Amino acid sequence: MSTLALAFDLGGTELRGALVERGGEVVARVWEPTMTEAGSEAVIGRIIALANKLLTDHPQAKVIGIGACAPGPLDPKAGIVIGPPTLSGWHNVPMIDILSRQFGLPVRLENDANAAALGEWRYGAGRGSESLVFVTVSTGIGGGVIADGHIYHGRRGLAAEIGHMTITGEGGRCFCGNVGCFEAVASGTALGRRATQLTASGDGSALRRLSGNGDVSARHVVEAARTGDAAARDLVDAEARWLGIGFTNLLHLYSPEVIVMGGGLSNGFDLLAPGIRATIDERAMQVYRDVPVVRAELGDRAGLVGAASLILWEGEPGTALSMVQDDEAKTGGPAGASAG
Ligand SMILES: [Zn+2]
Repeated sequence: MSTLALAFDLGGTELRGALVERGGEVVARVWEPTMTEAGSEAVIGRIIALANKLLTDHPQAKVIGIGACAPGPLDPKAGIVIGPPTLSGWHNVPMIDILSRQFGLPVRLENDANAAALGEWRYGAGRGSESLVFVTVSTGIGGGVIADGHIYHGRRGLAAEIGHMTITGEGGRCFCGNVGCFEAVASGTALGRRATQLTASGDGSALRRLSGNGDVSARHVVEAARTGDAAARDLVDAEARWLGIGFTNLLHLYSPEVIVMGGGLSNGFDLLAPGIRATIDERAMQVYRDVPVVRAELGDRAGLVGAASLILWEGEPGTALSMVQDDEAKTGGPAGASAG
């Protein structure tokens, strides 16, 4: 068996672990509810238990380190989870310290959006690029920026909080306290809210039929739009315009070679893409208009394989993965030995 990393994706609702190969293949996966209310010590205890389960189930695995990701804010260099809003009771938890002492292995930590950006860059839709912006659109909007072959961290690792760019002066208040954040108008939550406001329980609309007359979610909107429902199509068009405005800002700020869109709403990417493109063509300066916007490829594995890559990745920044594997094959390295 080839060289592997243990990877953990610590989310507000789900804790996921995996064994990941150098080529980004997930060999084994485990998951369970995070149960944050039990506190950071209990959650870390379960990370250790999941790691032990993966190691016990794969005794021949040659594990060379642990890559983990967690919600920000966190300090990737010091390895400290500072205090994410979605992990109650977590304050300055020294993840790297705890896990490296437990397992005697190198441990690396990254925030979850950056880890997903690394995953898509190294193994997914952004392979071979030098610069990309990854945007995840689901309940909120997050992102990560690869600039000139490096993840862009900024002061205290806080860069690329793109969900909180102000893109309008209107709308409801964002949880951050501001009005008009990208996330507040363009997240899946915002789309669901607009659909709920547009319709009424029992009105017989396609949206309310799909939602069982409850609140309408972004998923229902995409589903109804696929059947050709006019109201849902209008909502999708409006959503695509908001996304296009945000993406235009990202093009102007970071000049990526590609924008990769992931998250739950990327299930409707084919419906959204024409409106996103039209908005970019209308708003972006001419030289940015040829930059592709593509759907993420790794789904909910992006964070895990990105975290694993913190341990496994040996390529030059931006190097196509195939070149790394070729080198390994030549030197009789682990990827050559495994041969799939
Ligand atoms: Zn905000």
